[in-house]
Amino acid sequence: MNVCVLGAGTMGHGIAQVSAMGGHDVVLRDIDEDIVERGLDHVRENLQGGVDRGKVTEAERDATLERLSGTTDLETAVADADLVVEAVPENEELKRDVLSEAEEYVSADCVVASNTSSISVTGIASALDEPTRAIGLHFFNPVHIMGLVEVVVAEQTSESTRKFAEEFVEGVGKTAVVVEDSPGFASSRLGVALGVEAMRMVQEGVASPRDIDASMELGYNHPMGPIELGDVVGLDVRLGILEHLREELGERFRPPTVLRKKVRAGKLGKKSGEGFYVWEDGEIVGVSGEGDDE
Ligand code: NAD
Repeated sequence: MNVCVLGAGTMGHGIAQVSAMGGHDVVLRDIDEDIVERGLDHVRENLQGGVDRGKVTEAERDATLERLSGTTDLETAVADADLVVEAVPENEELKRDVLSEAEEYVSADCVVASNTSSISVTGIASALDEPTRAIGLHFFNPVHIMGLVEVVVAEQTSESTRKFAEEFVEGVGKTAVVVEDSPGFASSRLGVALGVEAMRMVQEGVASPRDIDASMELGYNHPMGPIELGDVVGLDVRLGILEHLREELGERFRPPTVLRKKVRAGKLGKKSGEGFYVWEDGEIVGVSGEGDDE
């Protein structure tokens, strides 16, 4: 198949990589040549990393790169595509514009997907002349490592589009879960529900961040506890998702005061050096407010 990925950033280059590794011819499109080149470089680095770790053969690396090209020209990028996946920034107007512009050049049976993590796919689909071809394909970061893709079914999505999307996902070696278009889909809604309750427990002094995380890591086999995960994702990002889910689904998603205070103070988690934990060089070195471990 021919796959076109719009947006060569964090997610776009990863989606292009796994699509090419799955045997498809892929065009990666962004608005600037340097960004396209950077996206292709990231794919080369990922593949080389895979070769170095013995996960990818040199032949697979070369064949994948052979199937992958980049451009800034929208028409060239989408003209032969069987599937277009957009991974442009999380802004509904932008996504609607990008996909409706792409639709001008695609073939009649081309499927058009959005990698949105929170916007209504039904809303994005309504920008298209043929909205039955629209669907959500919610990949996770880093795309070449994470095994899940949420297939988000919009109001308008046809049965054949849904089947096509599921087959595509399985074909690139991922597991598809099918979710009706609803706020937070399945993964964010559940992940954030656990995270917000964990923050409330810190606020109430039920247990320390370390003990709350250990209870999920050791008691439930989660690879990372909910407090640490919030720090890794970014507390500003978590707050934004909670506000959205509270608006759509109600007070159970109301952001706790402790979270608002941290974001207001610029304590955004790993990326700013402090959130619920204190971070140095990407590692936890202490608990916020309790001094460092060393
Ligand atoms: P990013 O900022 O890294 O990349 C977006 C890219 O889109 C940029 O390179 C930008 O130049 C490009 N772009 C902007 N306008 C464009 C246009 N008209 N045509 C083509 N390219 C254009 O963003 P990202 O983190 O890759 O996120 C992309 C989407 O994926 C968002 O909807 C986001 O919510 C979703 N998502 C992100 C993550 C994550 O962890 N980063 C996870 C799941 C889903």
